[in-house]
Amino acid sequence: HLSAALPVYNVQGEIVSWAGTLTDIHEQKETQRQKDDFLGIASHELKTPVTSIKAYTQVLEQMLRRSGDSRKADMVLKMDQQLNRLTNLISDLLDVTKIHTGKLQFNNDAFDFNEMVSEIMEDMQRTTTRHVVIGRLAGTVMLYGDKFRLGQVVTNLVSNAIKYAPAGGEIIVSSRVSDGGITLSVKDFGIGISGDKKERVFEQFYRVSGDKQQTFPGLGLGLYISREIIARAGGRIWVESEQGEGSTFSFSLPLTVVS
Ligand code: ADP
Repeated sequence: HLSAALPVYNVQGEIVSWAGTLTDIHEQKETQRQKDDFLGIASHELKTPVTSIKAYTQVLEQMLRRSGDSRKADMVLKMDQQLNRLTNLISDLLDVTKIHTGKLQFNNDAFDFNEMVSEIMEDMQRTTTRHVVIGRLAGTVMLYGDKFRLGQVVTNLVSNAIKYAPAGGEIIVSSRVSDGGITLSVKDFGIGISGDKKERVFEQFYRVSGDKQQTFPGLGLGLYISREIIARAGGRIWVESEQGEGSTFSFSLPLTVVS
């Protein structure tokens, strides 16, 4: 059982009684476990057909392209891009279940951190014409850690920068080495985040509800997963932002990342 009590004051500010709640934590844990089980099974079951459809659309697109039917090929390419979004949503859900159940795996190896960042920047640049992704990276920096998982964080931050700077502009990705650690920052000049919401963006399912007409798609999981990965790698992640001016998301890691 989990109990919590709050004092009840009189007008003189003296405590006159306590109001308590008693919660059956076993029941809560069981409900949470059932939710995680469901989320795990559902996202796993969704993943298989989507992967198969994706393979067919890619073949179909190539066939149409070769036969010279570029209009149809473009339509299939659009389908493929939407399937990418679906795949990403499903793998975010799978990751959240893994985090909840302590099953997020890390496969550590030595790799060049800045090279990994450059590759991701090139990939991301291909997805946008309105943004210029600029790199200010400090040469070769060898790191021991999970390249895939840390890359996932970089991809999250750069794709958020693209998404939340709808008018376009520069996205500056910079890295610097100091005190046995490396810090990576992703700066955009987009909508920004107001003061009280800055800390909350790393919570799961938290999304800033916009007062503007425009709505941005998403589940509110990317930054939660990112924070978890960075914490597991022994680092920290934070944001600096002014509403309407843009945001800078940064994380720092020790050079020997172990988990
Ligand atoms: P999602 O983008 O799917 O909603 P995230 O966990 O990546 O989920 O982000 C959580 C919330 O933080 C977003 O809904 C958005 O409100 C805010 N946010 C994240 N990145 C940025 C950014 N670069 N600029 C402004 N707001 C951001």
